[in-house]
Amino acid sequence: MANFLRQTPATFDPTARGWRAGTLGGVEIRLDPSLFLIGALVTFSLAVAVLPREVPRLSPIAYWLFGALAAVIFILSILWHEMAHALMALHYRIPVKRIVLHLFGGVAFIARDPERPAHEFWIAILGPLSSLSLALIFGALGNLPDLTGAICRWLALINLTLAIFNLLPGFPLDGGRVLRAALWYFGGSYRKATRQASRVGQGMAALFVFFALLLFLEGFWFNALWFVLIASFLYGAASLSYRMSAGGLPNESPLYRVLRHNVPLIDARLPLALLAWRYLDHAPDQAFPVFHEGALVGMVTAAQVERVPRLEWGRVRVADVMLPLTAFPILFITEPLESAKAQLDAYNVDHAPVFDGVQFVGMVNRRDIVYRT
Ligand SMILES: [Zn+2]
Repeated sequence: MANFLRQTPATFDPTARGWRAGTLGGVEIRLDPSLFLIGALVTFSLAVAVLPREVPRLSPIAYWLFGALAAVIFILSILWHEMAHALMALHYRIPVKRIVLHLFGGVAFIARDPERPAHEFWIAILGPLSSLSLALIFGALGNLPDLTGAICRWLALINLTLAIFNLLPGFPLDGGRVLRAALWYFGGSYRKATRQASRVGQGMAALFVFFALLLFLEGFWFNALWFVLIASFLYGAASLSYRMSAGGLPNESPLYRVLRHNVPLIDARLPLALLAWRYLDHAPDQAFPVFHEGALVGMVTAAQVERVPRLEWGRVRVADVMLPLTAFPILFITEPLESAKAQLDAYNVDHAPVFDGVQFVGMVNRRDIVYRT
């Protein structure tokens, strides 16, 4: 699933949870603790039920080893799915903040929504397509002998399930994003399309609750519980994106009233000498958003510039010293002031860029917020 950053409500940055596992292609990978629960569950069910049924009469150690191996490959499959979203977003020059892998799969946090329906379509569809490609590859390897073949068949099935589940048309699942891209393309309105796709998402959630009830009445209480969990997750995410798009006009939001408009956009290739002379000299306490080819890539303040010896200011460029996207929050215009301040606290910074959807609207600083909360 491709959850875009603007949908996080958050009193702190919820995307920064879990353990940092490293970076891949410039994208930070994080593991949510719940991931280990699903890893253990997968290993357990494979070692105890699936593998002994498929290939009987082997030692328990073999079942556990191959169960654990399959669980690791399963988690890598989710990463593969999210990387597909991330790489497509980067292809359209949309910054990808990080990928978090968790109980329900993964989320690629993309700094802003795409500007065109076609971009949204391709970013969303690449995830299920990548899962489908894995299903085909593992399916072809399913003829291998013994436990190797057995885990390949299971991985084929689970990746096929991932592809199909994510293609369900409930926003914010990938299928819901594909639906929004289509509604946006044919209807022309991004906001209206988001509202409609979110409504379908809520409908999907209701459908899941209905299935859960049926399963419960049939005695499959564990599956029923699972369906309720997915439904609540879907409903929460869909309702949230609905609220975001239906929210008041941007100029009515409290954040809009405190932010600095008409902030110069700094080119990442600008030498520090020019930055200091043109901008910092006049506003030493401000932060400036750094852009590269139209996309936000970082933020720079006097603090970063002062770390570089003055003699090198002609040679060193803004991109070399700026704070990267992972070092500060990106706020959206609908954010309440308390939550904006909490996000600044979480990152331990005093400034943050503010967006209205895909549009950069200004910079906000801690002082402006503190004086008004
Ligand atoms: Zn996806």
